[in-house]
Amino acid sequence: MSDQNILCEDVLEHICVNLDEELNSPNCEQIRVHINECPDCYAYLKSLKTTINLYKDYPSPCPSESAKRSIEESILKKIEPLRHK
Ligand SMILES: [Zn+2]
Repeated sequence: MSDQNILCEDVLEHICVNLDEELNSPNCEQIRVHINECPDCYAYLKSLKTTINLYKDYPSPCPSESAKRSIEESILKKIEPLRHK
């Protein structure tokens, strides 16, 4: 067993930072493992991807800063309840 179990909080914050990236870096390996084992984070990631896809489908030339900010705000709202568990 590893002492370096990552917390849901770590996962959520890491995903926030890497919104536009796939979880491919070695640094993300633990995150990925956690997501596969944690229903909360899995559900979160799923809803996050849905949110991002909604913005991608939006008939706007390019995702603006304000659109990105809206995504981040909706993410923060989802993170809040998890943090207080
Ligand atoms: Zn988790």
